[in-house]
Amino acid sequence: MDDLFQTSRAHVEKVDDGLTLLCGRADGTALINALPAILGVSGWRNMQTPGGKTIGVAVTNCGDVGWVSDTTGYRYQPMDPVSGNAWPAMPQSWIALASAAAAECGFDDFVPNACLINRYLPGNRMTSHQDKNEGDFRHPVVTVSTGLPADFLVHGNQRGGSPRVVPVYDGDVMVMGGRARLWYHGVKTLKGPATEDRPHRISLTFRYASAIRR
Ligand code: FE
Repeated sequence: MDDLFQTSRAHVEKVDDGLTLLCGRADGTALINALPAILGVSGWRNMQTPGGKTIGVAVTNCGDVGWVSDTTGYRYQPMDPVSGNAWPAMPQSWIALASAAAAECGFDDFVPNACLINRYLPGNRMTSHQDKNEGDFRHPVVTVSTGLPADFLVHGNQRGGSPRVVPVYDGDVMVMGGRARLWYHGVKTLKGPATEDRPHRISLTFRYASAIRR
């Protein structure tokens, strides 16, 4: 198994009760080495919102179930609607990293069965939303940032208002659970500039989705 843990510039930032940033905890480059094999099975796609808009951030999934959005709604499903087959398996090293990060923040027994992978190009953003299709909110969402830096926006219990801005860098791992589990959050428009080494930001968002639900 690749060693995806990195300790050199690691420190822990307690953003709020339930929201912790493990800075520099992952080796972003090593993580992303596993991506081409996943993309070979389930490639990037721009999904439609239930309202019929195209989501600018390209996504794919790995794991037992994957998050899907289309004009019929949001849900987790075991089949990739593009390929018609199962989603690719989640790398064991990714599971280990997400489980260890969750345990460090007090969430024992977190074994993700879904990883939504998001690709942000400069100009892409994610508007304020809740992660609420998982069905079981005892488990946190663990997000690993790789590539270009971004500003993560924490809105809290309200969708709007002025969010708290949390800069996230390559290798940072965010654990969002407990009272923060259903907080509204988003990502500010990615600035760039894109370089050959860092053409984008890719975030790996690990979840435990207990059921397929809309
Ligand atoms: Fe989210």
